Amino acid sequence: MVNIDWKPDRKSSISLYRQIVNYIKEKIGNGEWTVGSRLPVQRDLAKVFQVNRSTVVEALDELKADGLIEGRGKNGTVILNNTWSLMASRPAGTWEYYIKNGIQKPNLFTIQIINKLEYRDNIIRLGTGELSPELFPKEMMKKVLGHISSKIKSLGYERPKGSLYLRKVLSQYVKKLHINASPASILIVSGSLQALQLISMSILEPGSTVLVEKPSYIKSLHVFESSGIKLKGISMDKDGIILNEFLKNLDKTTSLLYTIPVFHNPTGIVMSEDRRDKLLSLCMRERLPIIEDDAYRELWLDEIPPETLKSRDKNGVVLYMGTTSKSLAAGMRIGWVIGPEPVIERLGDVKMQTDYGASSISQYTAAEWIESGLYEIYLKELRKKLNLRRQAALIILEKYFSDIAGWNVPKGGFYIWMKLKNKLDMQKLFYKCCKNGILINPGYIYDFTENYNIRISYSYASIHDLQFGLKKLSDIIKSL
Ligand code: PMP
Repeated sequence: MVNIDWKPDRKSSISLYRQIVNYIKEKIGNGEWTVGSRLPVQRDLAKVFQVNRSTVVEALDELKADGLIEGRGKNGTVILNNTWSLMASRPAGTWEYYIKNGIQKPNLFTIQIINKLEYRDNIIRLGTGELSPELFPKEMMKKVLGHISSKIKSLGYERPKGSLYLRKVLSQYVKKLHINASPASILIVSGSLQALQLISMSILEPGSTVLVEKPSYIKSLHVFESSGIKLKGISMDKDGIILNEFLKNLDKTTSLLYTIPVFHNPTGIVMSEDRRDKLLSLCMRERLPIIEDDAYRELWLDEIPPETLKSRDKNGVVLYMGTTSKSLAAGMRIGWVIGPEPVIERLGDVKMQTDYGASSISQYTAAEWIESGLYEIYLKELRKKLNLRRQAALIILEKYFSDIAGWNVPKGGFYIWMKLKNKLDMQKLFYKCCKNGILINPGYIYDFTENYNIRISYSYASIHDLQFGLKKLSDIIKSL
């Protein structure tokens, strides 16, 4: 077993996982750790490196992909190779080198697998955060496309902030949310994920820290980290971000708070009125900007959620993000950011350098959906159907999981955040599910610490598949 008396430098702008990869490579490369030596198990590595287990997993995955180490089940991880060509810092002409050293970090391995398996025939998708094809409003979409086909005069590039027509429509639409936004303070993006990418590239300083809820959807991606920005997780209670913890974690390096205050992904939590007011006044006091990601607002099932942070914001502290992805069609790739004009100008300028604008057909389509009033009519129907799915999923969970897990009853959105009562190897569970034709989103992809949750989505799989898939999931959990 190799000896380790080192830990990554938390102050470095190099990510913890990259530092661990480099450290292990150096030890193997300089011959200190020889072929055949064993590395401590993941849990122990996490302890010595003082990082989360998921960071260790990520580093080991990369070293495995490089052919330097190999997992040998119960015998741990063994050093497999110290060939100089694998170790050299720049093996000329190998694409592997280039692939590994690009600015954007690769997806977590689990997410790469999810992204591929989703398109396999006969797989049951229990975690997918998207509307089911069954819920797609085919007839209405036909009408909308019919209308726009006669309206379109050309399909050239749009303005830097996006189609003026769509921005005018959105300016009216958000009035209903009591957000006052002129078309000039709205930027159209190719999905709200792009907005986050633009924000991380355009207005944040490398080395700064973004505070996010713990767990959070954003932790499953490397949007911020790839720009050298760190994420720090703040715990939540039933009303949203815990303010004391938020304040404790604020320091000079904090550049922003990213929050999903409505039907939070993955926990489903809705930030309460009171928490919103307090959070906003704290952020104003601390001069800390907020990104409010409101992707799931329209998907309320019991009652209209509390008003947005943006509508309470009189000082331009909040950058507000919306999207048609969750409520209508993710493949349209249309989202919007609302904020102070100079920020919107800056993001628009970078967007022009990125893709020269979102698809103009999609922009026409989104505008027509909203302006014609069909969107509102459709949403009413959608809520009813999602409500039935939520009800069905909860009944199925009660039947198969009441002895092994607990969960929240979401008031909207897509997700039930199910917590297993007993600790088990969640990666093993994930792979076993894959082998059995079930795709789950394990909680560890969203979290900063060990996590025994599963994000169940009632929006995608048919009720029949939910019934079959959830029963199977329960059997698999019991078998581990
Ligand atoms: N924000 C949240 C909270 C989400 O859940 C998602 C999708 N999973 C996105 C943003 C990205 O959405 P879009 O398709 O608009 O890029």
